[in-house]
Amino acid sequence: MPNSGKTYLGVPVSRPRAAFFDFSSCEGCQLQILNNEATLLDFLSLVQVVNFREAMTEESDEYDIAFVEGSITRPDEVERLKAIRSRAKVLVALGSCACFGGVNQLKNRFRDLLWVNKTVYGDAAVETDFVRRLADVVAVDLMIYGCPVRKEEVEKVVTNVVIGKEISYPKYPVCMECKAGENICLFDLGEACLGPVTRAGCGAWCPGNRAGCWGCRGPADDANIEQMKRLMRERGIPEETILDRLECFGGFREVSETFRLEMTKGKP
Ligand code: SF4
Ligand code: SF4
Ligand code: SF4
Repeated sequence: MPNSGKTYLGVPVSRPRAAFFDFSSCEGCQLQILNNEATLLDFLSLVQVVNFREAMTEESDEYDIAFVEGSITRPDEVERLKAIRSRAKVLVALGSCACFGGVNQLKNRFRDLLWVNKTVYGDAAVETDFVRRLADVVAVDLMIYGCPVRKEEVEKVVTNVVIGKEISYPKYPVCMECKAGENICLFDLGEACLGPVTRAGCGAWCPGNRAGCWGCRGPADDANIEQMKRLMRERGIPEETILDRLECFGGFREVSETFRLEMTKGKP
């Protein structure tokens, strides 16, 4: 990565060229970064942003780090993503859509894409495919989880990339942060929550605002899905509600597909 000409404690500091790209998404993750006025200038002194459609008109094909938001749903997106990968030294999947397919991958529940296309777009059908996460198409070096990502976490990851420090994420579940925040457990109110099995790092955003977790950051290490299902069943939460939560962002795809098969077994 290019040397910025600056030093920290006598050590040359690099200022990598960073580019932001979006695919099928709501672009909310990019917005999160721009919204961080308090530290935006510090962030910009750390990297040299050369592509960011939401924020600037200049463009460049020369960059070290590519932050890629969104999921892949069309053939032309596959080619564009491969081109970005070929230019970037580090490719970062930004947000749940990029990491897991996000809410877009709910489309994959419908096996008949022609029917989906016709139902949604009518006679103005568009070219669309099953939704894929970035890692299904190209090699991904780093993931930043969340829908949307937390700007503080993006800044931490970028800082660590720039200074060459290992990136680590919480291994424990959202429940740990929720308990630390002294929230009332939604299970005790008879509501669904994926906090026991979802990777922490969001500060228990949803339970802290009186809403159950939908698992946007994907599974925590050693997540015990069966135990979580048992706890929800004991509190009278319907199977469909549990499945809806597990399927929502795509992070629990492996277990939710099996769960759906079990639930629909024997049904027409
Ligand atoms: S992860 Fe969520 S906020 Fe980010 S682009 Fe996808 S839908 Fe939008
Ligand atoms: S509300 Fe959710 S995240 Fe909080 S303790 Fe209960 S199950 Fe865990
Ligand atoms: S509580 Fe769950 S759904 Fe809400 S932001 Fe955190 S991980 Fe995502």
